[in-house]
Amino acid sequence: MLISQQSGEEFLRVLSGSSRAHTRAVVLALSPQALASLAVRLGSTSERVQQGLSLFFKALARQATAPHRDPLPVYVYNTTAAAPIALAEATAEFIARYRYTHQQQQQQQQQQQQFQPPPIWQAPAPSRALSSTRDAPPITSTTTAEQALTGYLPLPPSLSRTRLPMLASECPGWVCYAEKTTPQALPYLSTAKSPQQVLGTLVKAVLAPREGLKEGEVCLVGVMPCYDKKLEASRRDFVHEEWGEGEEGREGGGVPEVDLVLTAGEVLEMLRGYGEQEQEQQQQQQQLNGMSEHDDEKEDVGLVVVQRLFFSRFEEEEEEEGGEEAMEVEDSSSSSKGLVIARAAAAAAAGPSARPLTLQSAEESLFKGGSLLPYSSSSSSSSSNSMPEIGSGGYLEHIFRGAAKALFGVEVGPGPLQYQQGRNADYKEVVLEVGGEEVLRFALAYGFRNIQGVMGKMRRGKCFVQFVEIMACPSGCVNGGGMVKGPTGEPSAGGKERVRKVRGRFWEDQLRRRKEEEEEEEEGREGGALARWAYGEEVAREGVGGETALRLFHTRYHAVPRLEQANPSVTKW
Ligand code: SF4
Repeated sequence: MLISQQSGEEFLRVLSGSSRAHTRAVVLALSPQALASLAVRLGSTSERVQQGLSLFFKALARQATAPHRDPLPVYVYNTTAAAPIALAEATAEFIARYRYTHQQQQQQQQQQQQFQPPPIWQAPAPSRALSSTRDAPPITSTTTAEQALTGYLPLPPSLSRTRLPMLASECPGWVCYAEKTTPQALPYLSTAKSPQQVLGTLVKAVLAPREGLKEGEVCLVGVMPCYDKKLEASRRDFVHEEWGEGEEGREGGGVPEVDLVLTAGEVLEMLRGYGEQEQEQQQQQQQLNGMSEHDDEKEDVGLVVVQRLFFSRFEEEEEEEGGEEAMEVEDSSSSSKGLVIARAAAAAAAGPSARPLTLQSAEESLFKGGSLLPYSSSSSSSSSNSMPEIGSGGYLEHIFRGAAKALFGVEVGPGPLQYQQGRNADYKEVVLEVGGEEVLRFALAYGFRNIQGVMGKMRRGKCFVQFVEIMACPSGCVNGGGMVKGPTGEPSAGGKERVRKVRGRFWEDQLRRRKEEEEEEEEGREGGALARWAYGEEVAREGVGGETALRLFHTRYHAVPRLEQANPSVTKW
């Protein structure tokens, strides 16, 4: 059911108006890891692939639309634009948790009591979300399906966030695992939403109404590195009843922040299918003969055709234009002009305050995304070896630097952090010492083997770190299950090489964006366009960790009731 609701075929039905007929605009949100995976497969840069995908999705909308109708407007954003908000909220949350724990410790020491941390390994009562604001009561063996859906508990007014170590919650694979198998870990999970959900919230709750659209009239489609992101999008915690009716037939009503998620591999299949169709219709064999530089791709006719249609044209344009800053592209699949891709458009450079941010104007600034690199490019660009050997969201690096500064007044120098490797390449720790004393110890734990190790230590009260960046996939998101696969029968060495290339491309992209951000910072515009706007006057004016930010950018987790574990058909994500 979930797969069919969030498939490439369903996306085409949305574009054609035959599904989710209330849709009046489509927003694509591209993750940086998915882009890097497609870029490696297409032999191009992530920037060009993003430009090409923008043309491709708009061409798909035109192709899918009946001749007498206008195609749905399609906007393409980069989820990295929302990352600074997710990272800022997680950092503020960590600092609050640290201060609370430290304060408790000091109070008990003053009273000459031995410090008693809160109960360390206790599962919360089972619960189940009905929406972003309502929980169902715990399900027992006597609960009927009707009772489970109609009775509800309003959410408690404030979230209890007091425990350390704080565990990153960006990875839905890990969150799902914790909810089902280790609910004792849930009080330790950061409540900050992932960039995918932060972007969905802002697009639906703030940008859409500015163009006279209801929240449910915008279809937000993520392009992500794994299938677990589909599960994340379908969580009832991310469905808003206050946003109106939404799609007909949606159980429980309400409007989701993110409507459907496609993986990088599924997008590649769509590209291939489109190309094969074009090739059939237009008999482009002659053009194909001129594109033989990718010898190993000669048989992949569909991709060769879409490369010609959407991806190689940027290089041609750049040569012709001599590197003009903005480019206008005519889409060959239609006689109409394509979008103007404002890579360095004056409006974006001037910042969102130059004019109100709307779905349309946001495309210029959010198309570029932001950077997950928290350090100066001048030091990190000296050697590719200085890039982190990690492939996920940069939570540890941001929180470590933010906490060092806020809690101890220490500016951690530029360049990647110096990690101590643990028992394998997917477990690392980093330490901050002040005056010869260790004050912070953070860990990266990727893959279920390392997750189980961390859970075991926490259960025994032997986990002596204050933050763990946990990701379900070994090597992180660059190795996600939805990334572009190698050929059938690819040897494991080939798979490792592909992951290495994707990770290299991902960090190259981050470095390039960081350089652009540094230029912006020199002009006094730090923090990324979306974050500057979101914490500006109109959205979350109380700032990071404020009341509005807590409502918009945080979520909660549920110990899955035993009944749902015994009968997966009642599990909602
Ligand atoms: S680590 Fe894997 S499962 Fe988790 S978000 Fe990344 S790709 Fe998805």
